[in-house]
Amino acid sequence: MQHRSPGHKSSALPIEAATALRGRFGEDFQTEAAVCQTHAQTLTWLPPEAPYGVVFAYRKEDIRDAIRICSRYAVPIIAFGAGTSLEGQVNAPHGGISLDLSRMDKLVELAVDDMYVVVEPGMTREALDASLQTSGLFFPVDPGAAATLGGMASTRASGTNAVRYGTMRENTLALEVVLANGEIIRTGTRARKSSSGYDLTRLFVGAEGTLGIITGLTLRLYPIPEAIAGGRCTFDTIARAADTVLQALKKRIDLARIELLDSLCVRACNRHAKLAMEEAPTLFVEFHGDMLHVERQAEKFRRIVVSGGGRAFDWATDQEERSKLWAARRNAWWAIHEMFPGRKGVTTDVCVPISRLSDCVDQARVDISRLGLDAPIVGHVGDGNFHVLIMLDVENSAEIAKAEELISRLNQMAIEMGGTCTGEHGVGQGKMAYAAIEHGGAIATMQAIKHALDPNNILNPGKMLAPAKANRLFGQGRSP
Ligand SMILES: Cc1cc2nc3c(=O)[nH]c(=O)nc-3n(C[C@H](O)[C@H](O)[C@H](O)COP(=O)(O)OP(=O)(O)OC[C@H]3O[C@@H](n4cnc5c(N)ncnc54)[C@H](O)[C@@H]3O)c2cc1C
Repeated sequence: MQHRSPGHKSSALPIEAATALRGRFGEDFQTEAAVCQTHAQTLTWLPPEAPYGVVFAYRKEDIRDAIRICSRYAVPIIAFGAGTSLEGQVNAPHGGISLDLSRMDKLVELAVDDMYVVVEPGMTREALDASLQTSGLFFPVDPGAAATLGGMASTRASGTNAVRYGTMRENTLALEVVLANGEIIRTGTRARKSSSGYDLTRLFVGAEGTLGIITGLTLRLYPIPEAIAGGRCTFDTIARAADTVLQALKKRIDLARIELLDSLCVRACNRHAKLAMEEAPTLFVEFHGDMLHVERQAEKFRRIVVSGGGRAFDWATDQEERSKLWAARRNAWWAIHEMFPGRKGVTTDVCVPISRLSDCVDQARVDISRLGLDAPIVGHVGDGNFHVLIMLDVENSAEIAKAEELISRLNQMAIEMGGTCTGEHGVGQGKMAYAAIEHGGAIATMQAIKHALDPNNILNPGKMLAPAKANRLFGQGRSP
């Protein structure tokens, strides 16, 4: 299926489009270079590609009108939440405008008995947490960045709790979306399940702003557990740690979180948080429930660790200890950057069937050593999902070529193992080549859906489904 493309990046917005946007949005349409640059991808290895202007939206009618103007003049429109996505999702390779949704940040409705909340798309996960504080409920999806809920739905984000509570896919009950023609639709209901019609909610979750722009989300909430127990254990090898995860899942241990950190990552956390954890492959674990339940789960897990060759599993229900541990895990990305000053981090994210986790992580470790790279591994391993954060000297083209080799091998290995080239970071610009391999002929069906919903290809063009360009780290190195 061929799309009409907005074409190569021209040097500016069509004058009629700029006039119409200025007329409708006044001061909330900005074209200053500094504002445009802060809306280009900054947290990634992909070079920033700034939009020509930024519209700040306050209500759904603003989104509708921005889309109508952009549609009239075939101007690309890129939704922007917090800009924390890692694969170039908010870049503007074809120019156009960025639609900043961060000011649409209100909680619209909290239904305590039905355990759901309705929010605007620019509300951050932290702000939602704070709003729920006295409700006895919580929202479990917790990516390690200050992301917006609209951005999280659009990248189908997850985090440390996904092994028990699921990802944005499972926790988004309904959406309100503005389509490319300016029509506003509602998908889903407030019911916990439904067999009615196509599941449009799941179509828009993970669409990275290529099919419509989310103006409201109905999200599932959970009661705060009565008791939480957590702890950590270390292993001689990363493969043993990964194998312990498989055994725990097979024995149906009720894990709420299980995170893997390799020794380099533990060293970074120690330095950053002034801790003294053993610098060895480590699992951080947490159990939720009542006191009896968490004690039983912790004890069963301890036995699996010991029989799997792990060292003592110390666990506690003490909140201060647990908070310290999880804060260290949460800050791992920054801790690793701090340990390698002057270097740039490139994260790659894969997810495999759980029985292949140990092989995949082990092979990643072997490849990292062979290539001589500084590349800690960290992962939400209860789902078979892990990340390699490669710390690079961007002036060193030989090192960049090695990083590209590692990324290519890892992504292709995950796909060959029956897994995916991205468990949670999404496709954006960076993973298009691997997504094409992963989906094969199904890409044509995705393109047909895109064409039906966005025939002029104005919604975040050049992402996810566009013909894959060679992935060149920092514009250098080899293609994958
Ligand atoms: C340190 C760090 C740790 C991270 N850890 C995790 C993690 O544990 N798990 C995880 O899943 N991710 C993680 N991420 C990645 C990132 O936080 C997620 O991708 C997040 O979901 C992006 O949200 P955002 O608000 O920043 O979206 P943005 O980056 O602003 O946008 C992401 C995509 O969604 C689209 N979009 C945004 N809002 C809307 C909307 N309302 N309607 C339609 N499309 C929209 C954008 O056009 C873009 O394509 C991490 C990132 C960092 C920097």
